[in-house]
Amino acid sequence: MIPIDNNLIFTPENINNSEESKVIICLKDQEFLTSKTSNFLIFEDDDLKWSEMEFINQQFIGYLNNKPCFISELTNGSKVDDNLILTPLRNLLGRIPDSLFTVCARSLQLSEWKRNNQFCGTCGSKMTSHETERAMFCKCNNLLIYPRISPCIIVLVTKGEELLLAHNKNFPGPFYSTLAGFIEAGESAESAIHREIYEEVKVKVKNIKYFGSQSWPFPSQLMLGFHAEYLEGEIVPDGEEIDSADWFHYQKLPQVPTGNISISGQLIESYIEDIKS
Ligand SMILES: [Zn+2]
Repeated sequence: MIPIDNNLIFTPENINNSEESKVIICLKDQEFLTSKTSNFLIFEDDDLKWSEMEFINQQFIGYLNNKPCFISELTNGSKVDDNLILTPLRNLLGRIPDSLFTVCARSLQLSEWKRNNQFCGTCGSKMTSHETERAMFCKCNNLLIYPRISPCIIVLVTKGEELLLAHNKNFPGPFYSTLAGFIEAGESAESAIHREIYEEVKVKVKNIKYFGSQSWPFPSQLMLGFHAEYLEGEIVPDGEEIDSADWFHYQKLPQVPTGNISISGQLIESYIEDIKS
């Protein structure tokens, strides 16, 4: 096993050109094989050689501390060793270093992509992996099927010292967050911001400023974070996705995400820092 620390360096890559021994991240159905006593495990070949666990679909994802890093999936019928457990990635948020979360996000998306693209959508034949690109293809049309990424906008709307925060009806308890939504086909990020915010809370915004982005692999979002200023309108939650939304003074915020796990938290924290400075 290789030790987990904040100094892990990951370089995404599609083709392995290294002779170094490999390291392996194991998963099954979007859950990661971890130790019962520590947060995460990166295995070496020898760690798995003598186990009774069975794996399929090994896939190279890049270099971790200069070692070729693979993902490997447990078969449906495989045992899980006594000292190990399968853990959803969400439960590892904030418990593993950011650099490792990035590796896990990539692992999860690549394993899902491969599993969901075994057959051609045009002719139904079995697809094959492209030799040099991370793509599946079929000879019937030579279309390359790359891992899918779904861009989303996530926006903190503000009015001076107040922040517009919303409670999604799927959030547990009194937890509030920034507004977010998928960018639709043919839409720019800016148009999506205006549309989503109006749809969700009937408010119009101005002065949109890009903040940063975060891969959010549940299942394949790329969250594009923005700040925006309130322009006009009274808050009216849509009642479908958002069941409650309001202006909150920055000193009296409800329970919100923290910056160490999500860009939503980072948007909130950076705005508050700006107000204070
Ligand atoms: Zn085909």
